[in-house]
Amino acid sequence: MDADRRNYLENSVMGTVPNRLPGSHYLAKGTRVYIAGPIARKPNGNRQAFGLFADAARERGWEPVNPHEVDHGHSGECTGAEVPRMDGDFDSIHKYGCYMRADIKAMLTCEAAIFLPGWPTSAGASVERQVAQICGLTIIEHYEMHEVEGGA
Ligand SMILES: [Zn+2]
Repeated sequence: MDADRRNYLENSVMGTVPNRLPGSHYLAKGTRVYIAGPIARKPNGNRQAFGLFADAARERGWEPVNPHEVDHGHSGECTGAEVPRMDGDFDSIHKYGCYMRADIKAMLTCEAAIFLPGWPTSAGASVERQVAQICGLTIIEHYEMHEVEGGA
């Protein structure tokens, strides 16, 4: 491992630089890309933004993994804290643990993750950011999408 790559990896684990080697502004076609962003307290769970970025990923030949399409079913009791909705009530289907357990599993089947606007305000997306950094997923900021291309 050369010094540049070692520095890059150390910095990316520290969260100081995106997980991308300099100059590699593309991801291969077929790359599985997780979409991460705020859901709780957003209108319709922020489905519109997730859908737009999933479409943008698909246009580049990637395979988007949208948490709104992840199966959150499980046996046993729901686990974790209540999930607040925009209307001030709580999610009546699952708790945080149900969503995060399934979503993080789904994210870890991906090689990259796109972070939507507002992700730092979301506890779940912030955890996903840390996991993505430490596990070495390529991180794509929402505002970088226009400069990241689908590669051969
Ligand atoms: Zn549940």
